[in-house]
Amino acid sequence: MNRKKLTVKPKNRPALAQCSECGLCDTSYLRFAKRACAFITQHIAQLETLAHGRERDLDNDRELYFGVHQHMFAARRKQPLEGAQWTGMVTTLAIKALETGLVDAVLCVQSDPNDRFTPRPILARTPEEILASRINKPTLSPNLKVLDEIPDLGIRRLLAIGVGCQIQALRTVQAEIGLEELYVLGTPCVDNVTRQGLQQFLQTTSCSPATVVHYEFMQDFQIHFRHEDGAMEKVPFFGLNTKVLKEAFAPSCLSCFDYVNSLSDLVIGYMGAPFGWQWGVVRNPKGERLFNLIKDELEFTPIVEQGDRKKAAQQGIAFYDEGVTIPVWVARLVGIVVNKVGPKGLEFARFSIDSHFIRNYLYVKRNYPQRLEQHVPEYAKKIVHQYQLPSK
Ligand code: FAD
Ligand code: SF4
Repeated sequence: MNRKKLTVKPKNRPALAQCSECGLCDTSYLRFAKRACAFITQHIAQLETLAHGRERDLDNDRELYFGVHQHMFAARRKQPLEGAQWTGMVTTLAIKALETGLVDAVLCVQSDPNDRFTPRPILARTPEEILASRINKPTLSPNLKVLDEIPDLGIRRLLAIGVGCQIQALRTVQAEIGLEELYVLGTPCVDNVTRQGLQQFLQTTSCSPATVVHYEFMQDFQIHFRHEDGAMEKVPFFGLNTKVLKEAFAPSCLSCFDYVNSLSDLVIGYMGAPFGWQWGVVRNPKGERLFNLIKDELEFTPIVEQGDRKKAAQQGIAFYDEGVTIPVWVARLVGIVVNKVGPKGLEFARFSIDSHFIRNYLYVKRNYPQRLEQHVPEYAKKIVHQYQLPSK
């Protein structure tokens, strides 16, 4: 293979401010960045055809929102994995893929030994290395920076774990890597932050930012923070300081329309499942093969689809735009009511997609108007145009 090693300048980022630090530009694949970068060239439809054999069906409401898929499931591990983000389906699946010989390495991300929130991408070759990558590093992570090590390590079959922007870049260059087989296990991703932005988010939102070890935006409309001593803190979405948080989210994530990781073979998140369960989307036969590795270790619950998100999503537009912050006791009350009567299961997932796509559409329109038409995929335009948007 003709692989040119480059000395890459750390700040060589063709996407400039919109760079999500996916890691591609730290490798010799920098030469493909203009085509591969999710924030420069939006070509999800072509990549869907490459990965799944066809584009999503825009007239099918489930595909419009959740991408090409064979089926979905809501499940959790019968024996949750200690220390994982949820029940550890991603980590245990990756270990199984290695142990059964399906792959000979797993691209995943551990924490920096000095800071649990600073990501350290690796090509894991042992179950212990994969286990050490469990739990989210809720910051932009340069997962693809290890790509140049693949041939040096003699890796032929790889399982890559990552979020949407990393996977779009990986799919674009996958034919160049020279692998015999590539499996992709994705997670949904939204509202990611730089390490500095994370600090700002924690300081504005948690009562004890220094002791947070884990957090998640949950389906009960609250952020659940877990602290070092095991204490749980719950903060209602509707009480967030939107004025400050607008500044905390990375510009890449404010320009992203691939919340559900459209190009992975299998996606594992939680947003489409009932509260307390994980959610999976099997996109193609490779995804099915991955899912089968852990199927027997899971218990299942039916996928639900309840309520109507549209009114809440429409009201949220002005709320966010004007940076309205309401007192915490009111926010808790709103949260309780919305949790009782609000959207559930797939309808909650649609509420979250609608709200984020609208916000991001307006962000791109206001900051990069000349790129709006090309950058926003057709499915996202169809979703956003169900709503009345501010004229400016
Ligand atoms: P674990 O077994 O704990 O494994 C976690 C895996 O995530 C590890 O393999 C690790 O390599 C990988 N990982 C950790 N941090 C990163 C990172 N920064 N970039 C790339 N890969 C990483 N799901 C939703 O349904 N809705 C969301 O809005 C949502 N937002 C997310 C935002 C981020 C930044 C991340 C990383 C994930 C998000 N997820 C979201 C996915 C969800 O939080 C869980 O990761 C998923 O359900 C898997 O849980 P688990 O217990 O099986 O994972
Ligand atoms: Fe390069 Fe990735 Fe940043 Fe795009 S997002 S500029 S491909 S490092």
